[in-house]
Amino acid sequence: MSSSISSSSSNDSNSSASENDNEKYDEIESEVEVEDYSESSPPELILQNKAAELLTDLKENANTTQVAINRMVSGINSMMPHYNAFVKNELVKRSQNGVIKVQDLHEFFSFLDGQTIFEGVQTEYRKKWYEKEKWPEHLQFRKIVLRWKTVLRKNKVMEVPKYFGYRVSFLHQLESLLQNEEVLKCIDNPRPTMPNKFRSVLDGCMYQTHPVYQDDPHAIGIVLFVDDIDPTDGLSSYQNHNIRNYSWTLANIYPELRSTLRVINLLSLVNAKVAKRYRNEPFLRDLIHSMNKLSSKEGVTFRIKELPRVFHGFLLMMIGDMPASGNVSGFKESPSAKLCCRTCLVPLDEMCNCLCEDDVQLRNDALHNEHLKMMKEANDQDTLEKEERIIFSDSEDEDELPKEKKPLCSQAAQLSVKFGVNDESCLLKLNYFQCTKMFPHDIMHLFLEGILKSECLYVLQDSIGPKKLSLTAVNLFIENYDYEQWKPDKPSPIDQRHLKSGLRQNSSQILMLSTILPFVVWEYCDEAKLQNFVRLLMIFNICLSHEVDEEDIKCLERMIKEYLGQFNCLYPGKFVPKHHFLIHLPTQIYLYGPLTEQWAMRFEAYHAQMKRLFKILHNAKNIVFSLMSRLLSRRSLELRQYSCNFLSKGMLEAKVSGQTTMDKIKLRECIFQVNKGLHASSCLSCVKTLKFRGTVYESGAMLHITDRKKSLPTFGVVTEMYCLEDIYYIIYREVITSKFVECLNAYELLFASWTCFSVFQVPQTYFPRVFHVKKNNIDYAVIRGRAKPSKC
Ligand SMILES: [Zn+2]
Repeated sequence: MSSSISSSSSNDSNSSASENDNEKYDEIESEVEVEDYSESSPPELILQNKAAELLTDLKENANTTQVAINRMVSGINSMMPHYNAFVKNELVKRSQNGVIKVQDLHEFFSFLDGQTIFEGVQTEYRKKWYEKEKWPEHLQFRKIVLRWKTVLRKNKVMEVPKYFGYRVSFLHQLESLLQNEEVLKCIDNPRPTMPNKFRSVLDGCMYQTHPVYQDDPHAIGIVLFVDDIDPTDGLSSYQNHNIRNYSWTLANIYPELRSTLRVINLLSLVNAKVAKRYRNEPFLRDLIHSMNKLSSKEGVTFRIKELPRVFHGFLLMMIGDMPASGNVSGFKESPSAKLCCRTCLVPLDEMCNCLCEDDVQLRNDALHNEHLKMMKEANDQDTLEKEERIIFSDSEDEDELPKEKKPLCSQAAQLSVKFGVNDESCLLKLNYFQCTKMFPHDIMHLFLEGILKSECLYVLQDSIGPKKLSLTAVNLFIENYDYEQWKPDKPSPIDQRHLKSGLRQNSSQILMLSTILPFVVWEYCDEAKLQNFVRLLMIFNICLSHEVDEEDIKCLERMIKEYLGQFNCLYPGKFVPKHHFLIHLPTQIYLYGPLTEQWAMRFEAYHAQMKRLFKILHNAKNIVFSLMSRLLSRRSLELRQYSCNFLSKGMLEAKVSGQTTMDKIKLRECIFQVNKGLHASSCLSCVKTLKFRGTVYESGAMLHITDRKKSLPTFGVVTEMYCLEDIYYIIYREVITSKFVECLNAYELLFASWTCFSVFQVPQTYFPRVFHVKKNNIDYAVIRGRAKPSKC
């Protein structure tokens, strides 16, 4: 059995590849069963048949997705013109006075038979080598071995790594990112701040008053994210193999460009137990060292487009959820600890009585350092006494070796409980680091995985029962509601058991469920409980706003106080630390700007991507290595492929359905109003759907138009959309807003018999999301992410 493809590739012309490498390559080749074709078959038929066999083999034997196959086909197609150019070039070289001899042709094509279109990159090993040598964006990572173990392998005693992890060089990664024009543009052109307005992390006082920023108005702000992921969702034998992920993002990137996962950079990956054992320090050491260089007077010099340029920067904050954030910060990791808040010193049993920051004693860095000093002194004293008593202990089994993180002595442990501090955070080695301010509370975990989730349950528990609302009716509403573009967020059906043990919905589903829930339970829920739930929704709405002012922050503070007071009366004994953390959110806006600019939602999406990758790689010998390698390889490819739209790709996507001229557009007056330069013959594209910052606009979609703070907001329904020179014109029909219905957290709408049309331009405008709900034949609009509730 023979085939032209396998014979050409096994006749390997490249001698630099290792023997092992060739073996692997041949093995794959020999697995492919190839039907022999007679010599007389026309070559084009043989080729076509080979192509069909390859695609079927990839799909059926290698279990590849159709998406991957389509990409391979289009990729090879795009390479063909280059291959043809190469062949043409070689033939011209071999010709004399425009004539080429048959003998030369034969020689040339026997030479080609030994070649492959994938020359030099045909194996994983060679491709990696190529990326490393030829791609400046290529990111290398290092293995950090913390402890070795002795094993017997193939009758040989060997030392192999026992505890280890991987990390990238932070400065190398930053330099590679700064080569990108879109990223650099954000750093070089920071948006001017407006008095009392918060629109990005940079508007917060932690950035604005930072000494490094005072000296360099283009200073880079870094946001660190640390969290543990269970790549399997606890479903397989990999259970409890949680991986700690350290990643970072640039705070300087404009808010509208932050929705892509490309803003997230992977710094380090390690088994969570190892990270904990070594208190994170080995995996953050390089970052700490680099940040201290960046925040020094001299800064760090990078070569940007071949020219040297000095950069300054600093770490702004670290976000993450318990227990990882508690573990890195050195505060308590469990919400059941006596002092579990890293912002204040309120004991667990008094939390429910403190409704604002004035009611608690806030932590500060001087006090925190004092706490750490007292604990260290107690521990040192204890060690000294022990050394006097026991000089040597017996040799221990390896697994019983003292842990790298030594347990505290009893007196230090008492102090630890008293202060709510476990140990010193390794991030304290950073210049300008403020341990009591730089670990903000994350609203995604607070609301969607915490209090909003539990309050959805309480409201359902109150409404469902005999002579009241039936669970079937709730599920029917969930099933029949028109989710339009938010179909992926549709809540799962609710089971009777969930009403006892807790709702089984993910964050996006909770966000959707909380939006429609008031419409479901309206006539059945206790009035005070529904009001309390709606107040929480209003609080969350301010937290989701992309633009907040001082008035909003005061309103938020007031509403949190009211909400918590009412909650205590309605649900005695149900107060949890996540309720308490709410009181720190208003201050957090002053420190770091809008809460959506500092939440973990994007990082969580990055985790979801990692979990998907894990499913593909689950057979890998060293999963942490494979994940690290794949994610970094993807990043270097993205930096190459999207050099001019690395951040903006996907921010605005439109489906065009044809061309038209202004005179054919019935509602052209609306467009003329905003663009006076157009005339009757101006040609425009008709737009079918427009996706902008994650929201899809199409005919019939509802828009939130104005946000005049004193009066009711106005809404519109999209009728037509056009595009001219990257500006999108959305023509909408205005809708009358008759009133705000508090118990539904919604605006009642009126579709007038007369109609008024107007136009909006994208990307100049940004709309908060609007949900259209119909109840008892009345139309309602629910806004998500608008700063000011009408009540305030
Ligand atoms: Zn607190």
